Amino acid sequence: MIYNKEIIHSSHPQHRLKFEYKEVPFRCDGCKEAGIGCRYKCELCDFDLHKCCAVPSQSISHPFYPKCNFQFFTRPPGNGLRYCNACGKDVLGFVYHCRLCGFDLHPCCYNLPHMLDDGDVKLYLHKKVSSACHRCGRKGPSWSYRSACKKYHLHVSCVKEMLADNWQDLYYSNGKRSLELYTRIPSLKGTLQNHHRSKRGKVRKCCEMAGLAVQFIISAVLGDPTAMIAGVIGSLMSK
Ligand SMILES: [Zn+2]
Ligand SMILES: [Zn+2]
Ligand SMILES: [Zn+2]
Ligand SMILES: [Zn+2]
Ligand SMILES: [Zn+2]
Repeated sequence: MIYNKEIIHSSHPQHRLKFEYKEVPFRCDGCKEAGIGCRYKCELCDFDLHKCCAVPSQSISHPFYPKCNFQFFTRPPGNGLRYCNACGKDVLGFVYHCRLCGFDLHPCCYNLPHMLDDGDVKLYLHKKVSSACHRCGRKGPSWSYRSACKKYHLHVSCVKEMLADNWQDLYYSNGKRSLELYTRIPSLKGTLQNHHRSKRGKVRKCCEMAGLAVQFIISAVLGDPTAMIAGVIGSLMSK
């Protein structure tokens, strides 16, 4: 898909939004979820949109829910709290909603790649985990990524939790967005140690892979699978 350098968006009609790539996290003013990498931004207002939120489709389908027809809404339809069927998190803004069954998907969750591939490691998106998630130890209902070797499982919801745990710090530290912000993207250490413990046999190989897997999943969950946050997280893991 080709993205325009500048767009006008109905949720922020007063100014143009510029396409920008930065390895600094932001909160999307459309879906209210975290983002990194590519975004559409109003520099005057500090208004940001994920690219998938800035250029949504009006009506979509998803292979995990073959009978559903999802429509795009700028705010959650109906009364009461809605949650995303992919990641289990609340829906607070832009959403794809199926009127028939009431299912909801965050735009970024809808856009999660079904395969992440860096050449060595392949990760596949599944509707459920088939064995315990490396972060929470449970199977649970959230979508998850599984490595091709089937040894590594991570819930999309758990990745979001790791990010949420640190989001206040990330976003508000010193009142400004600095390099320090995103070097804390974090809590990955916990994940990796769990992985380490559970696979004591082939320590090195396994942990390298887990680290890589986590990097890919995080940038995908944040709405930009191509964001190069590898270095950031790599330096975290070596501590
Ligand atoms: Zn968004
Ligand atoms: Zn503006
Ligand atoms: Zn449906
Ligand atoms: Zn979601
Ligand atoms: Zn989990």
